[in-house]
Amino acid sequence: MDVRFDLPETDAFTRPYWDAAAEGRLLIRRCHAPGCGRAHHYPREFCPRCWGEDVTWERASGQAALYTWSVVHRNDLPPFGTRVPYTAAVVDLAEGPRMMTELVDHEGVVLRPGLPLEVAFCERAEGVTVPVFRIRQVP
Ligand SMILES: [Zn+2]
Repeated sequence: MDVRFDLPETDAFTRPYWDAAAEGRLLIRRCHAPGCGRAHHYPREFCPRCWGEDVTWERASGQAALYTWSVVHRNDLPPFGTRVPYTAAVVDLAEGPRMMTELVDHEGVVLRPGLPLEVAFCERAEGVTVPVFRIRQVP
């Protein structure tokens, strides 16, 4: 089997996140400690703000704003070389957390910070679906 650098390493803790992604839902983690209530991403067992342990999964709206991006023209780690150019991005989720992701389907759009985005899902391998973001469609 070819070595791939694009697939997540899942474990019992992150399994709900990947299972939800496969079903088209983006999950984040939210702290329920008094006076906190902060959401975070990537998923952690403890709240990174207050170290509270009362943290649960929550479905994110999937709405985000573009924070920054970089168009990647060369990546020697397989299978990224077959996908260049692609747009690596950091987005601010509506719930607050900042997330590293990929921006897709943005041909012809002038990218700018704050651009409204929405989550989409990309199956990278059988049973492995990752959240990506695209330009938010105006209803
Ligand atoms: Zn907290």
